[in-house]
Amino acid sequence: MDFSLSKQQKMIQKEVRRFAQEELAPRYSQWDREKVYPRELTKKMGDLGFLGISVSQECGGVGESHVTEGIVCEELSRGDCSLTMATHVSGHLCAGLLEKGDREVQKAFLEPFLAGDQIPAFCLTEPGCGTDAGALQTSAERKGRAYVLNGEKSGITAIMDADFALVFARTEPGTGARGVSCFAVPCNHPGVSTQAYEDLGCNAVVRGSIFLQNVEIPESYRIGEEGKGFKLAMQGFDISRILLCLEAIAPAMVSLEETMAHVKQREAFGRPLVTFEGVSFPIVEHFSLLESVRLLCYKALWLRDQGQPSSKEAGMVKWMAPRFSTNAIRDCIVLHGHYGYTKEYPLEQRLRDVLAIEIADGTPQVSKLVVQREIMGRGSLPYNYR
Ligand SMILES: Cc1cc2nc3c(=O)[nH]c(=O)nc-3n(C[C@H](O)[C@H](O)[C@H](O)COP(=O)(O)OP(=O)(O)OC[C@H]3O[C@@H](n4cnc5c(N)ncnc54)[C@H](O)[C@@H]3O)c2cc1C
Repeated sequence: MDFSLSKQQKMIQKEVRRFAQEELAPRYSQWDREKVYPRELTKKMGDLGFLGISVSQECGGVGESHVTEGIVCEELSRGDCSLTMATHVSGHLCAGLLEKGDREVQKAFLEPFLAGDQIPAFCLTEPGCGTDAGALQTSAERKGRAYVLNGEKSGITAIMDADFALVFARTEPGTGARGVSCFAVPCNHPGVSTQAYEDLGCNAVVRGSIFLQNVEIPESYRIGEEGKGFKLAMQGFDISRILLCLEAIAPAMVSLEETMAHVKQREAFGRPLVTFEGVSFPIVEHFSLLESVRLLCYKALWLRDQGQPSSKEAGMVKWMAPRFSTNAIRDCIVLHGHYGYTKEYPLEQRLRDVLAIEIADGTPQVSKLVVQREIMGRGSLPYNYR
């Protein structure tokens, strides 16, 4: 068993950490206040080769391992977890799908995404179903060598800034998850419109709905086989959920580091705060829990790199990491005293942003169902999940 990073991984880690510290962290709060998606930063990430880092070289990527992808995601999230959700979680899901598209799709969508020129959106959830995504109603009807799409996709990360959407739609009525296909849809296509939401956090990466009204797209924009789209989405979640967890852990770790520095220098009753167990033990507990789940994230990514299944590990970290992270950040606010509650510190923003990760890509409940299925079998589930 070897937990060490390769020379190349250490170099990437250092480079991405510097980028996050210099380019993201200083403007994290500003982007949140102004609700501005920093497109120019996406472009910089593209130029530096940070986007779609696990995309194969044949498809124009750098072909790094999923462990390296996790390192990039974690380091970026130390600077801005909200932007990382768009570029490296939604971005991962979309890039993984586009890799399975034909050459035309890769040229039109994957290449501009990797270069940081275009922002993608992953569109599975609908107003009527999220956890039970296989019940989706958006339709894609064949019309010669084209498809006509109708429906609404809701809760979509970065949809207001997206240049294209990967939309899951039903090609066969009444067949559950089996009749779903995936399509690339340019957001400026006739019949496409969007509507923004007012969210608690992740305000720079505005979520919203995308409406498809008689949107006609060529057959060649279908990704993968007809009726096999749902399986593609689920395969993507096995990795994106782990990346999302590393994205949640990073701001909690930064908050703990800041809190450790604060309680070492601030005094009460004639001694540094850190010398009171009531102050130091919560930090130790949060640090221990986060470090454990962080290791499980990397084990899960390593399993994927070995071609082994990781659904169980992805399910375990997905319910634990955002919960542990929100708990840690909340205590960091308290340990900063009344200053911690102000917007002078990024702590409150991190708390709002990390809360989103509990729901995105699957709630704690659905994550536990995945673990249950893996350790107790399908027969233990209330329904035939997946
Ligand atoms: C910040 C954020 C970003 C998102 N980004 C995207 C995106 O880019 N693309 C996209 O497609 N979607 C996105 N989503 C949507 C997200 O995937 C869904 O919100 C999520 O899957 C839950 O679906 P739902 O909201 O319809 O809740 P529901 O499915 O209605 O669930 C409501 C509650 O019931 C619980 N529940 C449901 N079924 C069960 C069960 N069988 N057992 C126990 N409890 C159950 C759930 O856990 C939840 O607590 C995002 C959501 C958020 C908050």
